[in-house]
Amino acid sequence: METQSSGNDPGGPIRHEDRSQLLGQNGLVVWFTGLSGSGKTTIAQEVERMLFSRGRLSYILDGDALRQGLNAGLGFSEEDRTENIRRAAHVARLFQDAGIIALACFISPRIAMRDMARQIVSPARFLEVYVKAGLETCMARDPKGQYRQALEGKIRDYTGLSREQSYEIPLQPDLELDTEQRTAAECARMVVDEIFKNEPPR
Ligand code: ADP
Repeated sequence: METQSSGNDPGGPIRHEDRSQLLGQNGLVVWFTGLSGSGKTTIAQEVERMLFSRGRLSYILDGDALRQGLNAGLGFSEEDRTENIRRAAHVARLFQDAGIIALACFISPRIAMRDMARQIVSPARFLEVYVKAGLETCMARDPKGQYRQALEGKIRDYTGLSREQSYEIPLQPDLELDTEQRTAAECARMVVDEIFKNEPPR
């Protein structure tokens, strides 16, 4: 049965450009990195709200959530952490290809892991955002109670606490958010400004 062609139908395989035109956005991967408790998820949620109210579609990819589904079975060895990030970056890339602004929240403690994620996505569509907070601050916040559990010996090799699992500070992030100096809303606004430099105006 022949269907009536709509004004949006490009008349061939639908490409990224066609989806972008339909959505009015290119899609981007905003990669939040930082210690647990630094504020990645809190800021990403605020960014999502701000984008939503301006008619932009984004989606949060959360490390903890992915570890319960797609990445269930992966542990916290160096190898498994790298595989966790590799898969996450591929998922983020698919979101970007769909035209969506992916807000990826992963500790991703190694520079090499983040570089890998950037290459998987495409350097032109990847923003590395360093969510900065000192270990003491993160431990005092302890939003998930995990630092306490790690100190009690119930979680091993927690990032930032064990010598083997140090966090490598980004050397040249696209954006650095100091969450000890700025509120989550202020940080989110900085991210949104950066996103709009990379997304065409309507
Ligand atoms: P992460 O996702 O990096 O593990 P979360 O966003 O889950 O961190 O937790 C950060 C905690 O720090 C939250 O309880 C949040 O309310 C608090 N917080 C305090 N100040 C800030 C800030 N400026 N930006 C983000 N989070 C903040």
